[in-house]
Amino acid sequence: MDKDLAEQVADIAQRVVASGAISANGHGNVSVRVPGAEEMYFTAGPSLRGHLASAVVRVGLDGALIEGDLPPIQGAVVAMHTAMYQDHPDVGCVLHTHSPYATAYAVAQRRIGCWIEAMAMFGLADGVPVAGYGPRGSAEAVASIRSAVIPGVPAVLLANHGVLIFHRTPDLAIVAGSVVEEAAQAGLNSERLGGPVEIPPDLRAAALQRTMAFDSQGTVHA
Ligand SMILES: [Zn+2]
Repeated sequence: MDKDLAEQVADIAQRVVASGAISANGHGNVSVRVPGAEEMYFTAGPSLRGHLASAVVRVGLDGALIEGDLPPIQGAVVAMHTAMYQDHPDVGCVLHTHSPYATAYAVAQRRIGCWIEAMAMFGLADGVPVAGYGPRGSAEAVASIRSAVIPGVPAVLLANHGVLIFHRTPDLAIVAGSVVEEAAQAGLNSERLGGPVEIPPDLRAAALQRTMAFDSQGTVHA
């Protein structure tokens, strides 16, 4: 076990909790790809709240446990993490949570649209699709996730379950998870006002371009 990498995974779990995009019970899992190896480090604890580095396990991308103790509840969802690493060579981190507002859309089996600007800014301009229900982590569920993924979009809602985020780095994954939750909350709140209105596609691209233009300038100093 690489202690530093296990500590990093535990730290990512705490940052997911700190982001607020998490259910009250802290259920979820975090994994990171081990660079240059066919394996991931995975949170095997029952909650991301206070998750210890000592409860992080090593799992092969074939799903086989390499090191550590993997309880059945966490073992059941390993395949939805490994599938993302297998399918997307650029993905370095996978997050799964039951963040409440995104999970409401997952339960309603409704996609989240690009109705807040942050969606356009963080790679979610096409919205977040819904993967059809299957028992958690089952071959059926994983096949649904794989077929629901929109190329380049780092998130999928898991019908009647929660949300799955997969991105190049932990930082990007945490941001994407919080943007999805923010969009879901805004979408639900706007229902009493007639429902969310999506940003027109050409203006989504403009929002991203404006972000990139400011990014390229960096921080401006007086
Ligand atoms: Zn779950």
